[in-house]
Order: sequence, then C-alpha cells, then structure tokens
Amino acid sequence: MDHRLPATLQMAREFSRLFVNRRAYTVQSQRPHPESGRHYYYRPKSREDEPVELTGETVRKHLAGEMTIGLYAINPATQRCKWMAIDADYKTALDDLIKLQRQLQTDGIAAALEKSKRGGHLWMLFEQPVLAYDARVYIYHVAGKLAVQVKGSGLAEGVEIFPKQDQVRRGQFGNAIRAPLGVHWGARESRGWRYWYYGADYSLEHQLAYLNGLPKVKETHLRAMIAGKSIPQEFAQQAERPESPRYFEPKQGEFRILDYVQVKRQAGRNWVTRCPSCAAMGHDKSGDNLAISVEEPRKYCCWAGCTRDMIRAALGRPVANGRLR
Ligand SMILES: [Zn+2]
Repeated sequence: MDHRLPATLQMAREFSRLFVNRRAYTVQSQRPHPESGRHYYYRPKSREDEPVELTGETVRKHLAGEMTIGLYAINPATQRCKWMAIDADYKTALDDLIKLQRQLQTDGIAAALEKSKRGGHLWMLFEQPVLAYDARVYIYHVAGKLAVQVKGSGLAEGVEIFPKQDQVRRGQFGNAIRAPLGVHWGARESRGWRYWYYGADYSLEHQLAYLNGLPKVKETHLRAMIAGKSIPQEFAQQAERPESPRYFEPKQGEFRILDYVQVKRQAGRNWVTRCPSCAAMGHDKSGDNLAISVEEPRKYCCWAGCTRDMIRAALGRPVANGRLR
C-alpha cells in the first residue's frame, strides 16, 4: 500500500491555520534507530547549522506522506496555544479518552479523537490562541473529576497533556507532538501508515473538512470553566520540568551521547548527568559532572576535565583511530 496521497498548498494552509502556532518544528526519522528500532524526532538544521523554519511546502509534504513533522504547542512570544492534545497510550487508553471526550462535550467543548498506536490523541481547537496555563488548568480538573490518571508524580501510566508546560522561555520549545494526518514511520505496513480522526472518512479532504467544521473553543468559555481553579498541587512542580532531550538525526554510525546516558536534569542551556568516565573511576557521586548542550546534543563536556576520548572509552564506544590521535 502506497503511503503517499495528493496534497495541495491550500490543504497545507488550512492545516496550518488550525495547528501551526510557531515556526520551530521536528521531523520524524524515516529510518529506525539501529539499536532501539524507534523512529526518533529531531529538529531540522540547515547546512549552515541554522534551525529551519516550518513552511507551507513542508506542511504539504507532511500531508502528502513524504515526511512527518511534530509541532510545538506554545508560542513563546504569547505563551498561548491554538490547540491542546491529550495523548494516551496504554491498555485502557481509549476508554479514558472517550470518557474525557464525553465530559468535554458536557462542558460544551468539542474534541476530535485521533487514533494512535494503542490509544489515541484527543484534540481541542481554540477559536483564538489561549494561554497554555488556562488550557492546562481545565484539563487537569477534568481528568481529576473523572479519576483519569495524568502521567507524572511517579505514575508510569496515564495521559500526557500537550502543552506539557505552563510557559516556555524564549529559545525553549516545550514538547512536540506528532502532527495529525501524516504517516507514522513506525506504524507502516501493519497499520496502513496513517492514524486518522474517527470523526470523518479516511481521506485528507474529509478529515480537513471535519476539523474545519469542529466547533472551536472560545477563550471566554474556557476562562469561565476554570474560574477560581489552578493547576493541582501535585502537578504544579511537574510543569516546571524541562522537555526531554531531543535527538538529532545521526549520520551513518554517528555516536550520540544521549543514547548512552540518562539525563538527570536541565541546568540552563545544558542537560546534566553523571560523567561515565568519572563514574568508572568512582568519582562524580553527585552525578552532575557531564553537561550536554540542549541546543546541540552533539556537544558535551565533563567539568572534572575528562576528555572526549575518555568518555567515549568509558561508554565502550572509543573514538576511532586516526586524526584525533
Ligand atoms: Zn568526567
């Protein structure tokens, strides 16, 4: 089955009006990672190493199935989002999403359910962008009312809410979610490449018409629903947590430090974790000697002075003989 569909720039414009809120984006790798087999997302860079901005043509290619993009919810200039998505991927995920969708409907809020691997994504679209904080307050309260678990605070399973942050600073991105209507490179063959919305026939034309026709949530209505409410205490801290590290598209056989270490936290512009080379010598007990650039995860260094060769050797991936000697 061919995964490509004819898509036009007009479709891309309609899609962008609904979903694109900032020009930073991610691309899903079409090649599985050699070890994990997963199709990671990375932020595309130009040949000059500059971030690439999302264009109408890129959105068209996403709809056509030539590539798959991920979108960020929050525009850092306004802290607002055009949509909110609830991602659920566990055994009873679909039951929870349908429960949420019903409650939203009761609250006068239409939401569109998109299939995914095990569960789905439930999308709300706003008439005008709303504060990410407000949208999150609303969903936390709906989830609480229905006893639907939200991931975080120690729970392994639960729904994930996009935007994941109440706010992002300039130069930060938050977490991207796979943009709807495109193909999923990890789902090809077995699942017919694309996950569609349940609410319309499985063609781009019908799906876009369905999304265009979906009643959009007004900010005044959202504000009324959350009057006097805030983010529940147990999740207030979680909103401060940084995005998880983003992978970059590896060149053939390229070493990626993020495949080998588990980051502990973000400190300014770096991820921080225990240096493998220090650890091999029984040092760095506090686990914060290794810094990995958030922006450019190819760059990393050890504050105790371990060289790149030492770190690579400690990870069992020594730098190849040659010009580095
Ligand atoms: Zn070290």
